[in-house]
Amino acid sequence: MTETLMPFDDVLAAYDPALGLEVHVELNTASKMFCGCPAVFGGEPNAGVCPTCLGLPGAMPVVNGKAVESAIRIGLALNCQIAEWCRFARKNYFYPDMPKNFQTSQYDEPICFDGWMDVDVDGETFRVEIERAHMEEDTGKSLHVGGATGRIHGADHSLVDYNRAGIPLIEIVTRPILGAGERAPEVARAYVAQLRELIVALGVSEARMDQGNLRADVNLSLAPKGSGVLGTRTETKNVNSFRSVERAVRFEMQRHAAILSGGGSILQETRHWHEDTGITTSGREKSDAEDYRYFPEPDLVPVAPSREWVEELRGTLPENPTVRRARLQAEWGFSDLEMRDTVGAGALGLVEETIAEGAAPQAARKWWLGELARRSNEDGVDLVDLPITPADVARIQALVEDRTVNDKLARQVFEGVLAGEGTPDEVVEKRGLAVVSDDGALGAAVDNAIAANPDVAAKIRDGKVAAAGALIGAVMKEMRGQADAGRVRELILEKLAV
Ligand SMILES: [Zn+2]
Repeated sequence: MTETLMPFDDVLAAYDPALGLEVHVELNTASKMFCGCPAVFGGEPNAGVCPTCLGLPGAMPVVNGKAVESAIRIGLALNCQIAEWCRFARKNYFYPDMPKNFQTSQYDEPICFDGWMDVDVDGETFRVEIERAHMEEDTGKSLHVGGATGRIHGADHSLVDYNRAGIPLIEIVTRPILGAGERAPEVARAYVAQLRELIVALGVSEARMDQGNLRADVNLSLAPKGSGVLGTRTETKNVNSFRSVERAVRFEMQRHAAILSGGGSILQETRHWHEDTGITTSGREKSDAEDYRYFPEPDLVPVAPSREWVEELRGTLPENPTVRRARLQAEWGFSDLEMRDTVGAGALGLVEETIAEGAAPQAARKWWLGELARRSNEDGVDLVDLPITPADVARIQALVEDRTVNDKLARQVFEGVLAGEGTPDEVVEKRGLAVVSDDGALGAAVDNAIAANPDVAAKIRDGKVAAAGALIGAVMKEMRGQADAGRVRELILEKLAV
């Protein structure tokens, strides 16, 4: 089914968007939320399970203290209040990959609430209010076998892996984000990107979106421009990259507007995001009054973090992101525009790590925002998910600086590393990319160039040193770009006795 979409500019002329984001963060604790099983997804299916996370009768859960600590640190970093006393609740629903037939979550007593995060979009700040951040457990994972798509439709049978069941999750929910207007897609993207940066700085999760450690659900509604009301929302589930968050918001804005302007109404439902086609499709209908029959979990004692502990944890928080950006900009000597582009591209942490690996700030910025940003656009993946590390980038820059490769050859080294051909040094070796700086080989090429361009050589002899560029070009051509240009220039001037 093809959706009718309204052109984006027309959407904004008639409607105000309201955004809402729910982000699930999978914590990197050693054990699960309520039992001692390893909190590691993957490996042999159903090897990391026990009576508690399988929901067997009589099994008793115990809260993972480290997970509570991570939840509080996330909450504090998001400027939230921390509950003095809160309980877990049972969220009752049936799903084959949820063995207890309820999810242990938090309902009306979240551990963190009433916070905010300032999000930078192109130098403008949007304050995103955080309604709550609560603790819960992940479900298992179903695998549908025998169909073409991996979805349940058309499958022969399904398998369930409970290794993931019970891994600690923190769900972070925003209040409706209003007033973003045309920037709503970018605000959504920037919020998720900045939240990920914060989670990484806290060290509480691997935070890989492509691995599902960090999953975003994107809520969107439109209201007639200036009406000040909230429209009916849709919730697009499990959007798994920053750019997809932006695209999903844009798509839903255009889809909602086309329906509303045609006199239709929006169905309140969850929707699936399709990375390949960039569209959303209908999932299941969802009403606000959906009855999960929540009730306080009777098998767990309440969580009552002492104020002393909360303050102690406040002392472990990483630098505030706004302060950090200002500090880094000063340290690196970036202009406002350079800094804004770096943050906007989601490259701040990558540039920082590349500099820590020894690259100069401008070189680190140049590669991540140039060559690598181009690749991430072409491949449709976020920079952080490209198969190259900051250490690789720093190494390639070092190879440029010690004249093993020039800028042009360095691009081929990037290509090789991204193609999985090995480390930068291995790629240089395998592809034979090192520039020639050996005087014997270069000298012969210089002699050829001088012989083939007597007029140019005469000019240089007469003192017009600038003309050497033409001879350097001829040598580079003969050496297929693999000559050390600096040394070639020196040889030309020596041979012509300037
Ligand atoms: Zn277990």
